[in-house]
Amino acid sequence: MVEHQIRSRGITNSRVLTAMREIPRHLFIPPPYNTSAYEDAPLPIGNGQTISQPYIVALMTALIDPLPEDRVLEIGAGSGYQAAILSMLVQQVTTIERIPAVADLARENLVKIGLQNISIIVGDGTRGYPDHAPYDGIMITAATPEIPPPLIDQLTIGGILVAPVGGREIQELITLTRNENGVVRSSHGGVRFVPLIGEHGWADS
Ligand code: SAH
Repeated sequence: MVEHQIRSRGITNSRVLTAMREIPRHLFIPPPYNTSAYEDAPLPIGNGQTISQPYIVALMTALIDPLPEDRVLEIGAGSGYQAAILSMLVQQVTTIERIPAVADLARENLVKIGLQNISIIVGDGTRGYPDHAPYDGIMITAATPEIPPPLIDQLTIGGILVAPVGGREIQELITLTRNENGVVRSSHGGVRFVPLIGEHGWADS
């Protein structure tokens, strides 16, 4: 998976590649899809939600430039897989999930792996999580019409936010880097994510 789907497509951050090799993706996917865990595709995880394609997980992880002393916020815990990858790379991961049953699944999966530096919060991640702010990196793993303003406020100066921004069906992967004067925005290609639903995201429908 790492050689053929990730390294060959230009992800070179060796710490990210190591984390992707070490975390067993099949433990985060319920049957019958767990047998396809190392294929180049997103997969269903229940409750209408999906675990992202491995390449997109690696790309988003590399884009926030994770460093060992960093604190990172993820919006959309889902299976917990992305949080597990992040937890190998940074000091503290906070991940927010809107659906309580999905948060329970993420918690069970992370207990199986035995990772300690992850807090799973149930709530609307479009408001961020001020209690653990500021964050060196913020990753939104659901599609948002625009970047929720509270998340920009919760980034450190120098912090990087990555998110799929656009329509409910297709989006563009965007990074925002915060500096003293504001934010610098850049684009990293087309993606498809399930919608971010909440106060600063999409309406529940
Ligand atoms: N990162 C996950 C996949 C995320 S799928 C993984 O590694 O498996 C997107 C998730 O975002 C879904 O579980 C969905 O319920 C959640 N979500 C949608 N809107 C949200 C919100 N406002 N706050 C927190 N989670 C949200």
